[in-house]
Amino acid sequence: MRTLPRIALLPGFTPGEPKTYTVRGYEQGVLRAGGFPVTLPLTDRPEILEQAAHFFDGFLFVGGKDLHPRHYGQEVLEACGLISPENDAMDLALMKKVLALRKPIFGICRGCQTMNVALGGDLYQDIPSQIPRSAPCQHRQQSPDNVATHRVTIREDSLLYRIVGQTSLMVNSLHHQAIGTPAPGTMVSAIASDGVSEAIERSDDSFFLGVQWHPERLLDTEPHAMKLFSAFVKACSRS
Ligand code: MN
Repeated sequence: MRTLPRIALLPGFTPGEPKTYTVRGYEQGVLRAGGFPVTLPLTDRPEILEQAAHFFDGFLFVGGKDLHPRHYGQEVLEACGLISPENDAMDLALMKKVLALRKPIFGICRGCQTMNVALGGDLYQDIPSQIPRSAPCQHRQQSPDNVATHRVTIREDSLLYRIVGQTSLMVNSLHHQAIGTPAPGTMVSAIASDGVSEAIERSDDSFFLGVQWHPERLLDTEPHAMKLFSAFVKACSRS
Protein backbone atom coordinates (compact mmCIF):
# COMPACT_ATOMS: atom_id res chain seq x y z
CA MET A 1 0.00 0.00 0.00
CA ARG A 2 1.26 3.43 -0.93
CA THR A 3 2.27 5.51 2.06
CA LEU A 4 0.47 8.84 2.10
CA PRO A 5 2.47 11.99 2.85
CA ARG A 6 2.25 12.71 6.57
CA ILE A 7 1.18 16.28 7.16
CA ALA A 8 1.47 17.83 10.62
CA LEU A 9 -1.17 20.43 11.48
CA LEU A 10 -0.33 22.89 14.22
CA PRO A 11 -2.98 22.92 16.95
CA GLY A 12 -5.51 25.66 17.53
CA PHE A 13 -5.72 26.96 21.09
CA THR A 14 -7.37 29.77 23.01
CA PRO A 15 -5.51 30.71 26.21
CA GLY A 16 -7.45 29.69 29.30
CA GLU A 17 -9.57 27.07 27.56
CA PRO A 18 -9.10 23.39 28.41
CA LYS A 19 -8.85 22.15 24.84
CA THR A 20 -6.90 22.33 21.62
CA TYR A 21 -8.70 22.08 18.30
CA THR A 22 -8.44 21.72 14.55
CA VAL A 23 -10.56 23.62 12.05
CA ARG A 24 -12.06 20.97 9.83
CA GLY A 25 -11.17 22.67 6.54
CA TYR A 26 -7.45 22.11 7.17
CA GLU A 27 -8.04 18.38 7.49
CA GLN A 28 -10.36 18.37 4.50
CA GLY A 29 -7.93 20.23 2.28
CA VAL A 30 -5.08 17.84 3.12
CA LEU A 31 -7.30 14.74 2.87
CA ARG A 32 -8.71 15.74 -0.50
CA ALA A 33 -5.16 16.40 -1.74
CA GLY A 34 -4.13 12.86 -0.79
CA GLY A 35 -2.26 13.60 2.42
CA PHE A 36 -2.60 12.13 5.92
CA PRO A 37 -3.27 15.05 8.30
CA VAL A 38 -2.34 14.71 11.97
CA THR A 39 -2.84 17.51 14.49
CA LEU A 40 0.08 17.85 16.87
CA PRO A 41 -0.27 18.25 20.63
CA LEU A 42 0.36 21.76 21.93
CA THR A 43 3.88 21.63 23.34
CA ASP A 44 7.25 23.32 23.09
CA ARG A 45 9.21 20.34 24.40
CA PRO A 46 12.31 20.28 22.17
CA GLU A 47 12.48 16.49 21.91
CA ILE A 48 8.87 16.30 20.70
CA LEU A 49 9.38 19.07 18.16
CA GLU A 50 12.64 17.51 16.98
CA GLN A 51 10.96 14.16 16.38
CA ALA A 52 7.97 15.79 14.69
CA ALA A 53 10.27 17.71 12.36
CA HIS A 54 11.90 14.45 11.29
CA PHE A 55 8.77 12.27 11.26
CA PHE A 56 6.40 14.39 9.19
CA ASP A 57 6.77 15.15 5.48
CA GLY A 58 5.17 18.60 5.56
CA PHE A 59 3.89 21.16 8.05
CA LEU A 60 0.73 23.25 7.94
CA PHE A 61 0.94 26.29 10.20
CA VAL A 62 -2.67 27.26 10.74
CA GLY A 63 -4.58 30.39 11.66
CA GLY A 64 -4.93 31.54 15.25
CA LYS A 65 -4.22 34.29 17.72
CA ASP A 66 -1.82 37.21 17.31
CA LEU A 67 1.90 36.54 17.68
CA HIS A 68 3.47 38.38 20.60
CA PRO A 69 5.15 41.46 19.09
CA ARG A 70 8.24 40.79 21.25
CA HIS A 71 9.17 38.16 18.65
CA TYR A 72 9.75 40.97 16.16
CA GLY A 73 11.13 43.55 18.56
CA GLN A 74 7.99 45.50 19.45
CA GLU A 75 5.78 46.12 22.45
CA VAL A 76 2.10 45.25 22.46
CA LEU A 77 0.22 48.17 20.93
CA GLU A 78 -3.29 49.13 21.95
CA ALA A 79 -4.87 47.53 18.89
CA CYS A 80 -3.04 44.20 19.12
CA GLY A 81 -5.31 41.23 19.69
CA LEU A 82 -5.26 38.21 22.00
CA ILE A 83 -1.85 36.55 22.29
CA SER A 84 -1.13 32.88 22.96
CA PRO A 85 2.41 32.43 24.30
CA GLU A 86 1.94 28.65 24.10
CA ASN A 87 1.32 28.73 20.34
CA ASP A 88 4.15 31.23 19.82
CA ALA A 89 6.68 29.02 21.60
CA MET A 90 5.67 25.91 19.66
CA ASP A 91 5.28 27.52 16.24
CA LEU A 92 8.56 29.42 16.21
CA ALA A 93 10.63 26.53 17.61
CA LEU A 94 9.12 23.94 15.26
CA MET A 95 9.36 26.17 12.20
CA LYS A 96 13.07 26.74 12.79
CA LYS A 97 13.66 22.98 13.00
CA VAL A 98 11.64 22.38 9.82
CA LEU A 99 13.47 25.15 7.98
CA ALA A 100 16.77 23.51 8.90
CA LEU A 101 15.54 20.27 7.31
CA ARG A 102 14.20 22.15 4.26
CA LYS A 103 10.86 20.36 4.43
CA PRO A 104 7.68 21.88 2.95
CA ILE A 105 5.89 24.57 4.95
CA PHE A 106 2.44 25.93 4.15
CA GLY A 107 1.22 28.78 6.31
CA ILE A 108 -2.27 30.18 6.53
CA CYS A 109 -3.12 33.54 8.16
CA ARG A 110 -1.22 33.47 11.48
CA GLY A 111 0.93 30.74 9.90
CA CYS A 112 1.90 33.13 7.11
CA GLN A 113 2.79 35.79 9.67
CA THR A 114 4.82 33.27 11.70
CA MET A 115 6.87 32.43 8.60
CA ASN A 116 7.91 36.06 8.24
CA VAL A 117 8.71 36.48 11.94
CA ALA A 118 10.66 33.21 12.16
CA LEU A 119 13.01 34.46 9.44
CA GLY A 120 13.45 37.92 10.95
CA GLY A 121 10.66 40.01 9.43
CA ASP A 122 8.00 41.95 11.29
CA LEU A 123 4.25 42.52 11.30
CA TYR A 124 1.71 45.27 11.42
CA GLN A 125 -0.07 44.63 14.70
CA ASP A 126 -3.27 46.16 13.38
CA ILE A 127 -4.04 47.06 9.78
CA PRO A 128 -6.77 49.69 10.36
CA SER A 129 -4.70 51.77 12.79
CA GLN A 130 -1.26 51.26 11.20
CA ILE A 131 -1.58 51.14 7.43
CA PRO A 132 -2.86 54.27 5.65
CA ARG A 133 -5.08 53.17 2.76
CA SER A 134 -7.10 55.30 0.36
CA ALA A 135 -9.63 52.57 -0.45
CA PRO A 136 -9.46 49.99 2.34
CA CYS A 137 -10.47 46.41 1.67
CA GLN A 138 -12.48 44.60 4.32
CA HIS A 139 -9.74 42.45 5.81
CA ARG A 140 -12.01 41.40 8.68
CA GLN A 141 -14.93 40.55 6.49
CA GLN A 142 -18.54 40.78 7.57
CA SER A 143 -19.62 38.02 5.18
CA PRO A 144 -19.50 34.26 5.83
CA ASP A 145 -16.01 32.70 5.80
CA ASN A 146 -16.62 30.88 2.51
CA VAL A 147 -17.30 34.11 0.60
CA ALA A 148 -14.40 35.75 -1.25
CA THR A 149 -14.47 39.49 -0.60
CA HIS A 150 -11.28 41.15 -1.86
CA ARG A 151 -8.85 40.75 -4.72
CA VAL A 152 -5.17 39.88 -4.49
CA THR A 153 -2.67 40.53 -7.28
CA ILE A 154 0.02 37.90 -7.71
CA ARG A 155 3.61 38.28 -8.91
CA GLU A 156 4.26 36.25 -12.01
CA ASP A 157 7.74 35.23 -10.84
CA SER A 158 6.33 33.35 -7.86
CA LEU A 159 5.50 29.87 -6.65
CA LEU A 160 1.99 31.11 -5.95
CA TYR A 161 1.53 32.05 -9.61
CA ARG A 162 2.88 28.70 -10.77
CA ILE A 163 0.35 26.97 -8.51
CA VAL A 164 -2.82 28.92 -9.31
CA GLY A 165 -1.95 30.04 -12.87
CA GLN A 166 -3.60 33.43 -12.39
CA THR A 167 -2.32 36.93 -11.72
CA SER A 168 -5.29 37.79 -9.56
CA LEU A 169 -7.67 35.94 -7.26
CA MET A 170 -10.69 36.76 -5.15
CA VAL A 171 -10.09 35.65 -1.55
CA ASN A 172 -11.74 35.74 1.85
CA SER A 173 -10.18 37.78 4.63
CA LEU A 174 -10.25 37.17 8.38
CA HIS A 175 -7.23 39.07 9.66
CA HIS A 176 -6.35 42.38 11.27
CA GLN A 177 -2.58 41.89 11.22
CA ALA A 178 -0.30 41.69 8.19
CA ILE A 179 3.29 41.24 7.08
CA GLY A 180 5.30 44.40 7.62
CA THR A 181 8.93 44.26 6.54
CA PRO A 182 9.52 40.99 4.70
CA ALA A 183 12.25 38.83 6.20
CA PRO A 184 15.61 38.62 4.40
CA GLY A 185 15.44 36.03 1.63
CA THR A 186 11.66 36.20 1.33
CA MET A 187 9.34 38.05 -1.02
CA VAL A 188 5.74 39.17 -0.84
CA SER A 189 4.09 37.40 -3.76
CA ALA A 190 0.54 38.75 -3.46
CA ILE A 191 -0.92 42.07 -2.40
CA ALA A 192 -4.49 43.17 -1.79
CA SER A 193 -6.04 46.03 -3.76
CA ASP A 194 -5.29 48.39 -0.86
CA GLY A 195 -1.61 47.40 -0.73
CA VAL A 196 -1.72 45.00 2.22
CA SER A 197 0.66 42.04 1.87
CA GLU A 198 -1.23 38.78 1.37
CA ALA A 199 1.38 36.07 0.64
CA ILE A 200 5.01 35.31 1.38
CA GLU A 201 7.48 32.86 -0.04
CA ARG A 202 11.18 32.21 -0.08
CA SER A 203 13.32 32.83 -3.10
CA ASP A 204 14.72 29.31 -3.29
CA ASP A 205 13.44 25.94 -4.42
CA SER A 206 11.87 24.78 -1.16
CA PHE A 207 8.08 24.77 -0.74
CA PHE A 208 7.66 27.70 1.61
CA LEU A 209 4.36 29.44 0.99
CA GLY A 210 2.23 31.53 3.31
CA VAL A 211 -1.11 33.06 2.42
CA GLN A 212 -2.99 35.59 4.48
CA TRP A 213 -6.42 34.36 3.38
CA HIS A 214 -8.19 31.13 4.37
CA PRO A 215 -8.26 28.56 1.53
CA GLU A 216 -9.50 25.93 4.01
CA ARG A 217 -12.84 27.79 4.10
CA LEU A 218 -13.03 28.25 0.33
CA LEU A 219 -12.68 24.58 -0.67
CA ASP A 220 -16.21 24.38 -2.02
CA THR A 221 -16.53 27.93 -3.34
CA GLU A 222 -13.24 28.93 -5.05
CA PRO A 223 -11.33 26.48 -7.28
CA HIS A 224 -7.97 28.11 -6.48
CA ALA A 225 -8.25 27.05 -2.82
CA MET A 226 -7.81 23.34 -3.50
CA LYS A 227 -4.87 24.05 -5.84
CA LEU A 228 -2.88 25.31 -2.85
CA PHE A 229 -3.50 22.17 -0.79
CA SER A 230 -2.75 19.95 -3.79
CA ALA A 231 0.55 21.68 -4.55
CA PHE A 232 1.57 21.52 -0.89
CA VAL A 233 0.80 17.81 -0.48
CA LYS A 234 2.51 17.06 -3.79
CA ALA A 235 5.64 18.83 -2.56
CA CYS A 236 5.48 16.64 0.57
CA SER A 237 5.45 13.49 -1.58
CA ARG A 238 8.78 13.97 -3.31
CA SER A 239 11.00 12.13 -0.86
MN1 MN B 1 -6.96 40.35 3.43
